Amino acid sequence: MFSDILGQDKAVHYLQKLVREDRVPGALLFCGQEGIGKRKAALEFAKALNCEDYFSRQNGEACGTCASCQAIEKGTHPDVTLVDFVYQARLVLKNNADEEDLEKEIAKQQHLSVDTIRDVTAKSQQKAVGPGWKVLIIDQAQTMQGAAANALLKFIEEPPAKTVWILITSKRATMLSTIVSRCQPLLFAPLQTAHVTKLLQTHLPDVADPERAAHYGGGSITGAQKAAEALELLESGGFGTITGPAQVAAGLSRTAATARREAQAVLDVLVTALHEKWTAADGQSRAMLQDTLQKFENYKRSIGRNVSAALIIETALMSLDGLNIKL
Ligand SMILES: [Zn+2]
Repeated sequence: MFSDILGQDKAVHYLQKLVREDRVPGALLFCGQEGIGKRKAALEFAKALNCEDYFSRQNGEACGTCASCQAIEKGTHPDVTLVDFVYQARLVLKNNADEEDLEKEIAKQQHLSVDTIRDVTAKSQQKAVGPGWKVLIIDQAQTMQGAAANALLKFIEEPPAKTVWILITSKRATMLSTIVSRCQPLLFAPLQTAHVTKLLQTHLPDVADPERAAHYGGGSITGAQKAAEALELLESGGFGTITGPAQVAAGLSRTAATARREAQAVLDVLVTALHEKWTAADGQSRAMLQDTLQKFENYKRSIGRNVSAALIIETALMSLDGLNIKL
């Protein structure tokens, strides 16, 4: 249900209006940071457009119980396609791999390929099976490079009747302008901390201390999950003690790419904590905190430059000495 999507009233009201009027632009671009409900909104929109219950559609809603709603929920509706790295990995493996092979293949994916885009554009031209709308969703649309993006262009420009493309991105600025200009943009806002807390409690009960994770999550579920892992890493390594810097650094993953992601999340949590302390401070301690925040910007940049993540984390934590930062 659209009502499960918290904190995106403006975007949801717009989509509901399109459902009620049964008039939809040929291509929509859902923009906004990761982990704020864009993909869920695209699927709920697909459900509402195809719902078999006339009165639900008149209210711009999906009933959630008809055969069409249930098929979309399960990912088996013939007229609704969700393209992402999982879809692409299945295409590469031609659907005959076991779970482990699939996981490995998904982990390799970095860009949506021209083959994947051709697969979905071919689907866009086939006749719809049901009486509703054909919905083609492309998640991580910014990962389409030149050839893939160009393969999509003319299809989003003039889709067949009752066909809608939904491109989802957290990085609109990096997308080809020819693609962006052909889509109707729909902005999704960062979530309020209270909404992130509630969503964590409902959907991710394993996250310890959801309120604190949400506090450090930067208005996103994905951000809150990363923050929860970072807080765990900091605390299990004895953050704030004399041996903390070395122990937290030693707790990072041995896989370089994972260690970089973990280190980035640790730095993000610490920057939030530093910033809060800086806002409340005055005089000399404010100047010291400002100086440390500046250093942290450099640490964050260094991680992008392939310097050892463990070395950066150890140095960063040592630079907090005497500032009495609490998490
Ligand atoms: Zn329904």
